[in-house]
This record gives sequence, structure tokens and C-alpha cells, in this order.
Amino acid sequence: MTLESHRCCVHGCPNLAAYEVHRYQFDPLEGATVQLTDDSCPFICVEHAIDNELRAVGDRVPWHVVEYPYTNLERLPGFALYTQLEPAYVA
Ligand SMILES: [Zn+2]
Repeated sequence: MTLESHRCCVHGCPNLAAYEVHRYQFDPLEGATVQLTDDSCPFICVEHAIDNELRAVGDRVPWHVVEYPYTNLERLPGFALYTQLEPAYVA
């Protein structure tokens, strides 16, 4: 567990990140799962996570591509998961 804090990855956002962003994918043909840090936006603040979800386009099905405004900019299949960064985020 690290106490280091991360900034939100959204361009120009001064906030501390509240979440680590992962992408979860399930391949229904192979039964394979992927859950990896989103390299295109690994950390995000609460405000941008909410906006990211409200403006996402597509079904949150783990083998569909969901178009998020801030995360998964590589447009890989799967949906975003947000893991709370408790030690780094003090309201
Ligand atoms: Zn932000």
C-alpha cells in the first residue's frame, strides 16, 4: 500500500485522483478475462469519473467497445472499473 497521491489524468485537471482506472474484459468464446490498468488514463478524480460514465456511449457489456470521453482511449473491448484510492483521497 502506497501513500503517494496521483493526479487525475484528464488533461488540465488539477484534482487529485480518487480512483485507479481498470478495464475489465470477458471473452465469451474463450472464457478469458482481462483486468488491467487503463494505460490511456490510469487515475481519475471523482468529478471526471462521473462525467466519464454519464457521457459514455455503448453498452457496458464486457466484450463490447464502450466509448468513454476520458478512459479507454485505445477503444479496447470491455468497460471501466474504478478502484477507490482511499489513502490518497481525503475530502
Ligand atoms: Zn479530473
